[in-house]
Amino acid sequence: MSTAAIAELKRELGPSGFLVGGDMAPHLVSPFGVHRGKALLVARPGSTEQVAQTVRICAEHGIAIVPQGGNTGLCGGAIPKGDRPCIIVSLARMNRILSVDPECYAITAEAGAILQSLHDAAEQVDRSFAMNWGARGSAMVGGAISTNGGGINVLKFGPARDQVLGLEVVLPDGRVWDGLRVLRKDTAGFDLKHLFIGGEGTLGVITKAVLKLHPRQPVNQSMFGAVADIGRLMELFVLARDIGADALSAFELMPGRNVRRALEVVPSLARPLETDAEWCVLIRLSGRDAEQIEEMLAQLYQAALEGGLLSDAVVSQSLTQEENLWHLRDEIPGPMLYEGMTLKWDASVPIDRIIPFLQQAQAIVADLQPEARFDAFGHVGDGNLHVSVWPQGETGPAFEALCAEIYRRVDALIWSLDGSICAEHGIGLVNVARVLGQKSAIELEMMRKVRALFDPQGIMNPGKMIAHPGASGPG
Ligand SMILES: Cc1cc2nc3c(=O)[nH]c(=O)nc-3n(C[C@H](O)[C@H](O)[C@H](O)COP(=O)(O)OP(=O)(O)OC[C@H]3O[C@@H](n4cnc5c(N)ncnc54)[C@H](O)[C@@H]3O)c2cc1C
Repeated sequence: MSTAAIAELKRELGPSGFLVGGDMAPHLVSPFGVHRGKALLVARPGSTEQVAQTVRICAEHGIAIVPQGGNTGLCGGAIPKGDRPCIIVSLARMNRILSVDPECYAITAEAGAILQSLHDAAEQVDRSFAMNWGARGSAMVGGAISTNGGGINVLKFGPARDQVLGLEVVLPDGRVWDGLRVLRKDTAGFDLKHLFIGGEGTLGVITKAVLKLHPRQPVNQSMFGAVADIGRLMELFVLARDIGADALSAFELMPGRNVRRALEVVPSLARPLETDAEWCVLIRLSGRDAEQIEEMLAQLYQAALEGGLLSDAVVSQSLTQEENLWHLRDEIPGPMLYEGMTLKWDASVPIDRIIPFLQQAQAIVADLQPEARFDAFGHVGDGNLHVSVWPQGETGPAFEALCAEIYRRVDALIWSLDGSICAEHGIGLVNVARVLGQKSAIELEMMRKVRALFDPQGIMNPGKMIAHPGASGPG
């Protein structure tokens, strides 16, 4: 059955529209080699019609489909689980920007367009595009929407969900839903696009999107600071918000150890401060009035140092210095996320609970294994920390039990603080079982019913996010 379907797919897609054998390799492994999968074929459709035809053929033959964008996702969502016949639908060839509309403050792009290309197109018409994070040179529109991506601008503009005006989606039976609207207001019933935003490819394949643009804020200036007392970080955040008001666009926390590490591994980076600190912050103000931004940063600098919130700080004085600070920030996750055996959380809590979360999580880990390494970085302004823990020891039943206990206790802490273990990377494959503890029975039932309604056969991204009612096991 699969052989006939694959032959049909190859015919439909044409020679440049698919990959097989060794050519599929880059599509079968996630960043840092964490997840590996198998597929019968990687489809590379060039149009919505080809996506629809691909999905129709798969639906007819019961072949599973894993949509894939830039494959920068960190939860294994774009990698096939490998337990049933499956193809990957890569959107990479559908990478065109279809229109840029400065009057409506909107941009329309195919799902395979790379985020950086939207930033460039927006800048050309004196607008800005909000979705921005370290992987912006590879992550694609469809993937960013399907994970409800966050990044460094959420504080000012909100996550991907807040940027989407309209979507075109190929449904699991191959029909095309044209919801490609530019409307800012529409109260005509359910706003269905929101089901696909953060849908992780379980309800259909996004093929096009209309996204918001914002007035360009050409002035971006940042302050890099050595935190004097992590217990008072919220005071610094509130101060930055009070002084910066709407100009505050990012408030990021980094461990000093990882800053030093990034400076070692990337020789082109300039060291921002001589002072060593356990924790560092990067605070950015953005706007149109350079003098005003400069004044606000000077005020923040003075108040933070005089108030004992920072032990040292520097404000960028040129574009080169500004770019250096953000290049440094972009390098923080790389060495940190996947060195050896790591336990990871992409946690969000109400902002005022971020320090209690950080300190209590550290205490839990120290209690269970004092020698385990603990690190956290992230978007403090969104209440979101990426936490990594490296337990020490040889793999074996005792080590696995320790890891499970660390996960259990830190997850329980997050939930006790009214938080989520999936702040911006999604559930994917890695969090399928753990997230069950976060959801009420009613919530799980609604999610499963939505999935079954769109995809009764259960062919869309099986094993990811939430169990299809027809599946066995948590995924
Ligand atoms: C260095 C680095 C830094 C990062 N920083 C951040 C950060 O700050 N904030 C953040 O949110 N993320 C971050 N990420 C994670 C990642 O970039 C995002 O999750 C991104 O949104 C994934 O986009 P992608 O195109 O690579 O999607 P993929 O990884 O290809 O796919 C992700 C999920 O979306 C689904 N999908 C992809 N395309 C479609 C489509 N067209 N239709 C339906 N479903 C689809 C896939 O099936 C999968 O479930 C980072 C990653 C790296 C490597």
